[in-house]
Formats: sequence, C-alpha cells, structure tokens
Amino acid sequence: MTKSWRQCLIFLVFTLNECLGFEKYYDGHVVLQVIPKNSLQFEALRKLNEALGFEFDFWKHSNRVDKPADIMIPEEKLDEVQGYLKKNNLDAKTKVIDVGRLIRKEEEILESHESSSRLRSMPSFNLYDYHTYDDQMAYIKSIAQQYSYVHLESLGKSVEGRDIQYLKIGYPSNRPKNILFIDAGIHAREWIAPATAICIIDRLVTNPDYTSLLYDIDIYVVPNVNPDGYEYSRTSDRMWRKNRSGPRQGCYGVDLNRNFAFKWGYSGVSRDPCSETYAGSSALSEVEAQHLAKILDANNNTIKAYVTLHSYGEDLIYPWGYAIRTYPSDVAELKKLAHEAAEAIHAVNGTRYSVGNSADELYPASGASDDYSKSIGIKFVYTFELSPTSSDDNFYGYGFQFPKEFIQPTCEETFPGILTIAKAVQDTNSK
Ligand SMILES: [Zn+2]
Repeated sequence: MTKSWRQCLIFLVFTLNECLGFEKYYDGHVVLQVIPKNSLQFEALRKLNEALGFEFDFWKHSNRVDKPADIMIPEEKLDEVQGYLKKNNLDAKTKVIDVGRLIRKEEEILESHESSSRLRSMPSFNLYDYHTYDDQMAYIKSIAQQYSYVHLESLGKSVEGRDIQYLKIGYPSNRPKNILFIDAGIHAREWIAPATAICIIDRLVTNPDYTSLLYDIDIYVVPNVNPDGYEYSRTSDRMWRKNRSGPRQGCYGVDLNRNFAFKWGYSGVSRDPCSETYAGSSALSEVEAQHLAKILDANNNTIKAYVTLHSYGEDLIYPWGYAIRTYPSDVAELKKLAHEAAEAIHAVNGTRYSVGNSADELYPASGASDDYSKSIGIKFVYTFELSPTSSDDNFYGYGFQFPKEFIQPTCEETFPGILTIAKAVQDTNSK
C-alpha cells in the first residue's frame, strides 16, 4: 500500500480513507442481485442505466430471463433504484451490504501481510496471496532464473512505463513448436486472474509430469497485461477496471477488452471516456492492447490456443462476443474442448463452470482480446471467468474481492482445465 499506518499517525492529516491508501470511497455502496423472471422484467433491467440516467457498475450482467445481475449502487441512488425495480416488479436481494467495508477488510489483510512479507525473500513467495505488480514480476523472474527451459521476455511498456513481462515455458526444439498463450489481468480489479496465472506457472514448472508436454509445445504466460490499472486498484480505487491512459474529458482509462481491432466499437462499448467500458479513441489506441496484439499477430500460425483469465462468474466462454447467436465456423470444436475443460475443472472440487458463447452467456461486447485472437486465425480461444459465481452457495458475499484463501482452490481447479487445452495444442502437432 502507499502509506503505512505509522506515516498516517505521524502526519495526522489524513482521513481514514487516505490512511488505508484508497482515494475512492465505496462506503454505503451496496450490491443488489436482481433476477428477471420474464421478458418484461428483463427489458426493464436492461434499461436501468438509461431510465435513471446513471451508469451503474454491473459487476455481472444478466443476459436472459432467470440469469442474475449483480449491480453496485451508491447509497444515495439506492431509493431511486429500488423504486424503479419495484415499479417493474423486479425482486432484489442484497449481496453486499457495504462495499466500502469489504474493501477495508481486504485492505487490512493486505497491510498486515505486506509488513511481514518485506522480511522474506523471493524463494518464499506465497502463491496464495495478492501481490504488488513488482512482486509478481520478481517472482516470474526468479522462475526464469531457476529453470533453464523458462525464459523471461517483455511485451513492452505500459502507459505509465511498467514493463509487461511474461514467461515462455518450454524446452528447446529444432522444429517450430505450437503455443498455448495465456494472459490475465486485462481488467484491473479482477485480482484472482493474475494470482491464478502465477499459480499456473508454478504448477507447470514444479511438476515433472509436464516435461513431455513442454517438449512438444510452448506455453506463454502473461500474468498481468494491465499493471497500471492493477496498481491503481491496489492503491486508489479497488473497483478500477480500465488502464490508466488519459485524461480525456477529465477521466482516465480505456477498457482494454474493448480496444482490440476486430469489430471495434460495434457493441457493448461506450464512447464516453468516463465510462467503465470506454473503447478508446480508435482500435488499438492503447499501448497495452497494441503490445498484446503484436505478439499474437507475430505468432498467429503457431499459437493454437489463447486463454484469457478474467473474473467472475465461473464461465468458460468462446467467440464471437460481438453479437448474440453468432459463431465461428468451427464452433462445434470450440464447444467440445470447452466442455472437456469444464469437466476437468468439475472433477477437482465439484465446481460447475457454464460453457457458452460469450455474447449469449455474458452480453454482446466487441473489441475484446478473445474475438481478436479468433479473428487472426487462432484455433482454440477461451475466456475463463474464474470464481466466485453469483449463485447463493458460492458467492461468499464477494465478487472481485475474492479472499486470498480461495486462490489455491481456484488455481487447483483451473489448472486441469488449462491442461486440457494444452493437450489439444499438443494434438495439433500431429495434424
Ligand atoms: Zn474481465
């Protein structure tokens, strides 16, 4: 965090919020879960922002009747929203009573951990914790130093100058190797995604069972595509989603997952720089998206699978995302492998991922990295929406603020899903 308790006590000029390192308050914000029961209710829910003239943060969208939406609502808007929901016969359940309190709880845990972790060296890096970007990079560097078949590379610099580093994992070969490409952290607040990517790296390199796989294919892992946004979500605004370019009209950030150069600006995006889903001034206007597109373009013949880790929802989704009921010609193969991966995930802890098309399962949104990857010819393309899910049993009252205790089970169940996709890449060698 940016400020320690000691600094706060010394200067005695900070609000409690500043002491905790956060500039943006979410005190009194509630998260309501709303489940539309018929098409009229669904329409009313869809038009909530428009009707009330305010952009509410939909943590989770509803894309059909019976599918819940999780909506974060500032305290001062709650009466208005509840009035609108009532008028439209929509029932709402409170999922989070006070987002600010949840953030402070998470913050206190991080503070206490960070003071103790400074005393430790990198070999004791705790995989099951949420780390700073610098620590994430120090960890992957240490892996590259320890294992001869792992190489540290850089995609390039973020808009604030952070180096977006990644690992190439795989034994040298005298023939071209096919690649599984994994990234995480495109959306800053989805902390479980980089934590899972890092844990996947650990699983791959510490278990000799994967030696033959890594002789056959290379696995590239970019643990955190959006380091500036991630750090901002740690220090200033826990709910930050975009990168940190700007300002434009007084607002910062572009939704990197709306900035890619396929059907850019077509659906599910905003032209307002202050919106959470601002697509940028043009396709690939953002350096982080440019860097990612560049490596995907340069290797589009050998990258046979692209997996992008997000949260939350427990969904395993495939293109196209830009429009509903619109699929690539090989959708049957994409679906089949997705179901196999979901089965592998289910076998670990019983977690049931739903498999579906990204526009049908979530909501139509264009300019995402998954659609882009598919558009340049990458065969198997998936977005993993990691845990938790919105359902009552597993939500734990959290969404993006998934306690660190869940990093290990999330990694353990995700890993076999990733391996299933890696094996499909391995199979492409013989084709
Ligand atoms: Zn996301």
